[in-house]
Amino acid sequence: MTAGTDLKMYNLLIDGKQVPAASGETFDTVSPTDNKPIGRIAKAGVEDVNRAVAAARKAFDEGPWRTMVPMERSKRMRRVADIIRERVDELARIETQNCGKIIVESRQDVLNSANCIEYYANLTGQIWGETIPMNGPLLDYTTREPFGVCGQIIPWNFPMLMAAWKLGPALATGNTIVLKPASATPITALLLGEICLEAGIPEGVVNVLTGPGATIGAAIAEHPDVDKLAFTGETETGKDIIRRSAGTIKKVSLELGGKSPNIVFPDTDIDEAVNGSLFAIFTNAGQRCTARTRLFLHESIHDEFMDLFVRKAGNIRIGDPLEESTQMGPVISQAQCERVLSFVEKARSEGADLRLGGVRVDEAALKDGNFVEPTIFDQVQNDMSIAQQEVFGPVLSVIPFEGEEDVVRMANDSIYGLAATIWTNDIKRAHRLAKDIRAGNISINFPTVNPPEAPFGGFKQSGIGRELSKHAIDLYTQTKNVVINLDEKKFDWYGAWPTDK
Ligand code: NDP
Repeated sequence: MTAGTDLKMYNLLIDGKQVPAASGETFDTVSPTDNKPIGRIAKAGVEDVNRAVAAARKAFDEGPWRTMVPMERSKRMRRVADIIRERVDELARIETQNCGKIIVESRQDVLNSANCIEYYANLTGQIWGETIPMNGPLLDYTTREPFGVCGQIIPWNFPMLMAAWKLGPALATGNTIVLKPASATPITALLLGEICLEAGIPEGVVNVLTGPGATIGAAIAEHPDVDKLAFTGETETGKDIIRRSAGTIKKVSLELGGKSPNIVFPDTDIDEAVNGSLFAIFTNAGQRCTARTRLFLHESIHDEFMDLFVRKAGNIRIGDPLEESTQMGPVISQAQCERVLSFVEKARSEGADLRLGGVRVDEAALKDGNFVEPTIFDQVQNDMSIAQQEVFGPVLSVIPFEGEEDVVRMANDSIYGLAATIWTNDIKRAHRLAKDIRAGNISINFPTVNPPEAPFGGFKQSGIGRELSKHAIDLYTQTKNVVINLDEKKFDWYGAWPTDK
């Protein structure tokens, strides 16, 4: 459907139908490459939240998704994955236009979304409980049951992949969903909702609402008919979600921010550590919750490492993210661009040594977009704001260290605990640090990877719960215990007392 201008119009998905917002309001979504609109989006309000939650409630209570045999649910979910793969080029292109991610990364994200949905499709038949030995003639067993209506609120940095991480386990376990994508990147989540319908997932099971988090996200978090809430985004928003959901004791899972360390010891392959460290900070223009934003460099290799690292970072090709040759695109918005640059100013004023970047790209062809040069600060102190606060842009803090104890203390000195990388060929040291670092995801001699098979989530203020893997089945199900009396003798508690009292 096309809006009044030649912008394509994208409506809400409620109860299997594409509908405008009850208010009729819309907003334009722009491309961070040039800040020009690429689509007109229905702007949902609280009335639409009520409609979507009612549709999800009905779909859960009346079925057939919840009661469908697992094999059938699996078949339809695998169809979702197949359609995503068939449409990979189109979806990747839209993702890149909407969030500025380079096309190579978008294609990977789209294919990883299909893999995630397929992984959970394959688990539908493996969601079972336990049989528990009891004293006496009793049979006791547990079942895993879906919560019901799940509110799922996601950010802009991996728009389609985050939707897949949320939908996969929720669908596999028979829940119904109200999904709210970030306002900056609403399109691929809406398309994923349509794909679910096309694949045979019944009407009302997946509802997608686009609109401001402060109103509709908050309304989802407070809604009495939403049973479970899954949120990915900023830690401060996560705190607000907890407060809002407390009134109805929702089951809440949170994936929040990070300030992840990347620790390089001298006994590693320096070339490989340089290459891995570039990937760990500059992919997706640094807008990864798991970005390794603090590079702890052993002082004995500092100069050698930095010479190579700064030179290679300076060679990263910035440009139109739709071009196959581009290696880094823009950050998500003008506001984010300004935020990143304000962190740069603060770091300079606190005494960090700017080795690369720190400015907007001033090339004529890119001046309308939100392009920031890869930025490297050296001689950062771990207590500086650049090392403690999440920047969410292509900005790295390099912190030299002397000893293992010293670096573990600094790595853990953060409110976050999402991820960490350790570069060393000393097997004992690698395992010692993997144990001592307080983070949910550790990679050794590898920058960062999150396949659907491995659990993902944060320690400390980086979150609650584990997404992906079989662990996410726990996030979307609750345990019911069933006990059965096998005894032929009739149960009579009070009859056991003497009758002549
Ligand atoms: P935000 O927290 O601002 O937004 C995330 C989502 O929450 C958006 O859909 C937003 O809607 C919505 N929202 C905003 N305010 C509220 C509210 N009061 N109640 C309910 N929902 C609300 O994060 P960003 O979009 O800025 O995403 C970046 C953040 O996400 C980073 O901090 C990053 O570290 C984190 N992140 C964490 C991951 C993890 O797994 N740990 C993975 C990816 C990102 P709207 O867009 O309309 O404002």
